[in-house]
Amino acid sequence: CGIVGYVGGQSALDVVIAGLKRLEYRGYDSAGVAVLADGGLAAAKKAGKLANLGKLLDERPLPAGTTGIGHTRWATHGGPTDANAHPHLDNSGRVAVVHNGIIENFAALRAELAERGHHLNSETDTEVVAHLLAENFSSCGDLAEAMRQVCRRLEGAFTLVAVHADEPDTVVGARRNSPLVVGVGDGENFLASDVAAFIAHTREAIELGQDQVVELKRDQVTVTDFDGAPADVRTYHVDWDA
Ligand code: GLU
Repeated sequence: CGIVGYVGGQSALDVVIAGLKRLEYRGYDSAGVAVLADGGLAAAKKAGKLANLGKLLDERPLPAGTTGIGHTRWATHGGPTDANAHPHLDNSGRVAVVHNGIIENFAALRAELAERGHHLNSETDTEVVAHLLAENFSSCGDLAEAMRQVCRRLEGAFTLVAVHADEPDTVVGARRNSPLVVGVGDGENFLASDVAAFIAHTREAIELGQDQVVELKRDQVTVTDFDGAPADVRTYHVDWDA
């Protein structure tokens, strides 16, 4: 129901949790985060309110990192359990993805992945994306390109945001029939399903268009369509009061 991504110089966990809090009003049943740190990826997720996730993070803190993603879930496929909460990871544990929306053709993709030896750990439509991203990343070595390849295979409505431990300082997002906005900062960039998540940090925003993929680095925002063609990007100023 809510998505936040961050790459920059601050604690990604702090920025992401604060952003998720700003999206809490939309309602949700579970929450989770993933950060890139020490050459790896660390994630925590929990059914219930953000306070439950906060308690888990107090008991088992994540290593400090400056690239991260977070999610509040409104379950559509699979009950509101810890295992079904996002982020979803592939079997290597090096890629994490969060998703709002519904992937209509997930059952066919699950069956295909299972046949190729992937082990699926949740009942969600989302988890297939983590596995497909990992496969595509291992052949192309580029997370934005892997995201484009995966999106071309997906049917339905989705906002997707992902990180890969083998591509530090990068967050990738994609959207179809579901909102995603970039917050453009100075040496840092944000992604969210709603500007409310980042206006405490920046009011320069880019609304992603239909069927577009965005690659976020600390100093760079690159937008393409699902085939990799560069997209026109228009930055606007968010002037409403938060
Ligand atoms: N369909 C996904 C799920 O059930 C995402 C739900 C959402 O938009 O939060 O996990």
